[in-house]
Amino acid sequence: MTLIDTRTPEPKRLIPGATGDWEVIIGLEVHAQVLSQSKLFSGASTTFGNPPNDNVSLVDAAMPGMLPVINEECVRQAVRTGLGLKARINNRSIFDRKNYFYPDLPQGYQISQYMDPIVGEGTIIISVGPDKKGNFEDIEIGIERLHLEQDAGKSMHDQHPSISYVDLNRSGVALMEIVSKPDLRSSDEAKAYVTKLRTILRYLGTCDGNMDEGSMRADVNVSVRRVGEDFGTRCEIKNVNSIRFVGQAIEFEARRQIAILEDGGSIDQETRLFDPGKGETRSMRSKEDAHDYRYFPDPDLLPLEFDNAFVDSLIAGLPELPDDKKARLMADMGLSAYDASILVSEKAIADYFEAVADGRDGKMAANWVINDLLGALNKAGKAIEDTPVSPQQLGAVLDLIKEGTISGKIAKDLFEVVWNEGGDPNRIVEDRGMKQVTDTGAIEAAVDEVIAANADKAEQVKLKPSMAGWFVGQVMKATQGKANPQAVNALVRKKLGIEE
Ligand code: ADP
Ligand code: MG
Repeated sequence: MTLIDTRTPEPKRLIPGATGDWEVIIGLEVHAQVLSQSKLFSGASTTFGNPPNDNVSLVDAAMPGMLPVINEECVRQAVRTGLGLKARINNRSIFDRKNYFYPDLPQGYQISQYMDPIVGEGTIIISVGPDKKGNFEDIEIGIERLHLEQDAGKSMHDQHPSISYVDLNRSGVALMEIVSKPDLRSSDEAKAYVTKLRTILRYLGTCDGNMDEGSMRADVNVSVRRVGEDFGTRCEIKNVNSIRFVGQAIEFEARRQIAILEDGGSIDQETRLFDPGKGETRSMRSKEDAHDYRYFPDPDLLPLEFDNAFVDSLIAGLPELPDDKKARLMADMGLSAYDASILVSEKAIADYFEAVADGRDGKMAANWVINDLLGALNKAGKAIEDTPVSPQQLGAVLDLIKEGTISGKIAKDLFEVVWNEGGDPNRIVEDRGMKQVTDTGAIEAAVDEVIAANADKAEQVKLKPSMAGWFVGQVMKATQGKANPQAVNALVRKKLGIEE
């Protein structure tokens, strides 16, 4: 099989530090655990964190005579995911047995899909950047396929000095294997791809995307080539379980391969492991030891077939996905592409933002959510789910600014009070006298006082009108920031006799 480079032939992302023009080629196989109550072919629970071997039915333990029964919810989730990846949905697919021996695989084979997967080719748009000019570039990455398969159990070698234990809680849990085309050209692109894929899965609610719980993990295929050459031999780095590690594994592996090739050597196709402690990959097995999986259709399962009406009903229930949401926020609220991408990057952030923006000025809401809320969360090391300021509270702050009750500056103080102490922003403004002074009489008095106390400066202003700003600052200070800044500015200029 010849692989066709689906990407632009111009070398775009080269490896810094290598001699000559090398390009790295990456394709990812992501295993995403399906969000479902029960396993792919049994009724056992999928709950994470239960005591070992709690979630095991006779099917999962491969007792003789047990028969698999397909879980329709897992099929729906796989189709929904396919739709979210703009992929071809195959109305007929086949479950095959992939045969190998391992202690945590009691059946002696994994039920997977080989030649006829449930979902065919699709695409994911990733955004990479910013470049030196601060621009982001959208790149389309091809999806080769998505298929359903069973997860294996877990061997535990660190519980006893001389024996290993097996936990079958995961055994039989549904996984979606999502295979990309070899379209990725840098570790940044690969990280952006996994991030975007996770975002889409979370919007769809088909996988929780929690990589630290093993709900999502990636096999990372890496090869390098001199610019203009054909694809080289790839190595596959198995089971990488964080986005950061995906990046580190690629960086290490690309450099390792280039060093070998520059030395006149050649790359062996092999399976490697990433060691996060050392930041390096090392060989696990070579192609010669590769399993012969002896795939064949599982005789216990009929081909999986559904009609278009089934797919249509799932299309009807799809949520708005991040790319569409981003386009809508830009078109309807006039947000910049940059701001919109931040707001849609996580479903929880998008939900928060939309609650704040509902019935309010979108740009103002975007500024507050991005700069103030996300800024404060970031500083506190908190996730959006743990925000101390609810969308209702932030919305109330925005309303107070909009109606002129508080100034933008006081609003920042108010936000901090709500963040630290909670409470109703309207009440806080009342109780603590944070209302903006719009009464011109009061502002005038404050302006007069500042001018009288600084007669020398009031003289100098006539020669240097830009000094008026200093007076405005003094008046704001004297009124504890509560005076309406426009009114102060106008009055200061009038009283100092500065022409507009
Ligand atoms: P296999 O089934 O043996 O793992 P596939 O053809 O399904 O092989 O490819 C697996 C992954 O390897 C895919 O994500 C694909 O994009 C990627 N891939 C294929 N060729 C290359 C290459 N030369 N360099 C990097 N990745 C590659
Ligand atoms: Mg593979």
